[in-house]
This record gives sequence, C-alpha cells and structure tokens, in this order.
Amino acid sequence: MATVTEKIEGEDVWIYHGQIYIPNTYAAGAVGSQFLISLRDKKKIMGTRCPTCNRVYVPARSVCKDCFGQLAEWVEVSDKGTLLTYTVCQQSNPVQPVEPPIVYGIVQLDGADNGIVHMLGEVDFEQLRIGMRVQAVFKEKREASILDIKYFKPLV
Ligand SMILES: [Zn+2]
Repeated sequence: MATVTEKIEGEDVWIYHGQIYIPNTYAAGAVGSQFLISLRDKKKIMGTRCPTCNRVYVPARSVCKDCFGQLAEWVEVSDKGTLLTYTVCQQSNPVQPVEPPIVYGIVQLDGADNGIVHMLGEVDFEQLRIGMRVQAVFKEKREASILDIKYFKPLV
C-alpha cells in the first residue's frame, strides 16, 4: 500500500495519506435472509410495511427507521422503479462487483417508500437522468445475494 506523509506548511501538523481495506461479513438476519431468498427463489423484490406510518421499506427491514415500529407485514414491490440519483464510478476498487465504469444509482421501486442502492446496466451515459424509469434484471444463476439483481436497466 503506497502512503505519503507531508507536513502542512506553517503548521505543526502532519498528514498521513493512506488507504484502509476492510473486508467484513455480517449476518443478514431473519428479515434480510428472507429478502435475499425471495430474490433467489422467486425473483421477487420484497419489502416490509410499517403498521403505524404505512411506509414500505425495500430491502425489507425489521424496524421502522421513523417510528421504530416492528415491521412484520411483507409486501411484494414492483421490479420497476424511478432513478432518484446516480453517480458514475471510473476507478477500480477491490469491493466493486464489476469493472468500471460503473453507474451506481438509488432506485425507488414502485410500491416502496425508500430507495435501493444498486448498479445500472445497459445504459448509455448520455441518457442518464434523474427520474428515468428502470427495471431490475435478474441473474440466471442466483445465490441469495443482492447481486441476484444484476442491475437495473432503463425502460424504453
Ligand atoms: Zn413507521
């Protein structure tokens, strides 16, 4: 790992530039696991609805972030949605699932009240715009991973 240390001129302060690679693993939990299993086995994108404020979260979660209510009602949402925002990544990184350039976006699926972070594919960078309609493309061979959704492609 390349590092550079430099002193800020006129100050008694040193800056150490470095990169930290932190591989990690966490348990998806009961709700997260069911969400991933639905992707793998049924190609269905499932959320959970809050009984108090009626928000539908995708990916499914167990507790409402707004009112802390327990989310026990499962809701299937559409595989189509609206691109809320996006960015284009041009640099390679060990944690990225594919080689750059990669378009990352936040997609609000029809029937959900929040956005899901994922990649866009089959997209011409010139046609990218906030508000564009997209649809999930599933992998043929799925393994209960968020990457069972290969990417979201523009709807034409
Ligand atoms: Zn709530």
